[in-house]
Amino acid sequence: MAKVVVLGAGVSGHTAALVAKRKLGKQHEVVIISPNSNYQWVPSNIWVGVGLMKPDQVKFKLAPVYKKQGIVYKQALALSIHPEGNKNNEKGFVTIKYVAGENEGKEETVDFDFLINATGPKLNFAATEGLGPDKFTNSVCTYDHAAHAWENLQKSLEKMEKGEKQTFLIGTGHPLATCQGAAFEYALNISFEVNKRKLNHLADIWWISNEYELGDFGMGGAYIKRNGYITPTKIFTESILKEYGIRWIKRAGVKKIDAGKAYYETLDGTEHEKEFDFAMLIPGFAGAGMKAFDKNDDDITDKVFAANGMMKVDADYTPKPYEEWKASDWPKIYQNPVYDNMYASGIAFAPPHTMSKPMESPNGTKIFPTPPRTGMPSGVIGRVVAANVAHRIKTGKEDHPHEASMAKMGAACIVSAGYGLIKGQAAVMTVNPIVQDWEKYPKWGRNIKDTVGVVGSAGHWMKLFMHYMFLYKAKAKALWWIIPE
Ligand SMILES: Cc1cc2nc3c(=O)[nH]c(=O)nc-3n(C[C@H](O)[C@H](O)[C@H](O)COP(=O)(O)OP(=O)(O)OC[C@H]3O[C@@H](n4cnc5c(N)ncnc54)[C@H](O)[C@@H]3O)c2cc1C
Repeated sequence: MAKVVVLGAGVSGHTAALVAKRKLGKQHEVVIISPNSNYQWVPSNIWVGVGLMKPDQVKFKLAPVYKKQGIVYKQALALSIHPEGNKNNEKGFVTIKYVAGENEGKEETVDFDFLINATGPKLNFAATEGLGPDKFTNSVCTYDHAAHAWENLQKSLEKMEKGEKQTFLIGTGHPLATCQGAAFEYALNISFEVNKRKLNHLADIWWISNEYELGDFGMGGAYIKRNGYITPTKIFTESILKEYGIRWIKRAGVKKIDAGKAYYETLDGTEHEKEFDFAMLIPGFAGAGMKAFDKNDDDITDKVFAANGMMKVDADYTPKPYEEWKASDWPKIYQNPVYDNMYASGIAFAPPHTMSKPMESPNGTKIFPTPPRTGMPSGVIGRVVAANVAHRIKTGKEDHPHEASMAKMGAACIVSAGYGLIKGQAAVMTVNPIVQDWEKYPKWGRNIKDTVGVVGSAGHWMKLFMHYMFLYKAKAKALWWIIPE
């Protein structure tokens, strides 16, 4: 019997655990270790952040799902990885610490034959002084954060109802933050809610971003086919912001926050301040911060993880200038190069480099988006990694029949821009591939035939449909596996 251990029950790890168990059946064991007792459908946190959904609508308890599927679930945090075992353990193992239940606080080891690290991003609020829901800004990265953001947003809306002006600052809270799409979506939803209440004249909404040009979204921007024309996402994004009455600050690296004030440097090296009444700024992302040790218990964290704490996989990490980046630098099977029974999926894998061009101010401040890994690739990678692990276990072979390079797969992104069956709007963007391939597509970097950008009600209905469909799938209800990521 083989044992597969999955770390993290988010979009990627949850998918990996369900797929691995379905493929391996009762003969093999699948264990999942994750600190939160709930699964959350993160994209819908945006709607929690504007009061249109309750946290209960975007989450559900994991334990009953795992019980039904025959997956062993430990509500714990993984602390360290020991791929070679040590003097007390022959097999590779992870150390974990229970965070709830009768074992709360207890540490134990869990051995594995195969490990899938899907611990997602650590929300690194500490990297920006004053950032985060415990300090001076809001977040929508978790359902708790989003519910808290809605409480604060209501206070601003109430003040506006009484005739007071309010300034909203939405965007990236670190010079290297990613996830621009989520923040952009939140800015549009705030504008929509303000408009719905006929309070526009009292709202000053600002988008602040580390992108060189708007519409970069951490993927180096894109060209999209729209109404028969090829349009850069810069124009697409700026026109949506204009339509929603949102002004913008670009090339901005937010470095510090005080009560009601953000301090930022722009790429030209100048320092600025922006006052706000309500701010939602996305933090920098890092890896989960696990350590790794060899059989002598010597620290090999640098061997297993990149400097940002994300796990090294089969990417080409050779440092090279932007002009020499290739689609083939990106990983295909997400296998650790040193320990072939370990994989990293979703945001937990270390990308070879960014997709956006690295930029630096004259003061040496790096200001540009790090690469996003949205829900769709995170889910697909989780499925592919689990399918390869199951293949290795069932056949005893070392090959990987399934691949999921972000330089080969397309993705769709639906940015909700207002809620309601009639008035709801969303911007839908598709790109293929996610990572530009300038060798294959020398003109546009991507296949322009598959690259679309539209705004309308249909997008909103799709986003709402996806909310229910992906929660249904994550609950592993009947025929869940036929629903694509
Ligand atoms: C507000 C917001 C809106 C978004 N909207 C969209 C959207 O509309 N479309 C889209 O495609 N993508 C969207 N995304 C991105 C999407 O949520 C991510 O791509 C996706 O969640 C990444 O999946 P993941 O499994 O890698 O990480 P996560 O989903 O973050 O899961 C990581 C899991 O690991 C667990 N974990 C952390 N540390 C440890 C540890 N040490 N040990 C064990 N477990 C650990 C966490 O508790 C969590 O369960 C959005 C993101 C945000 C923040």
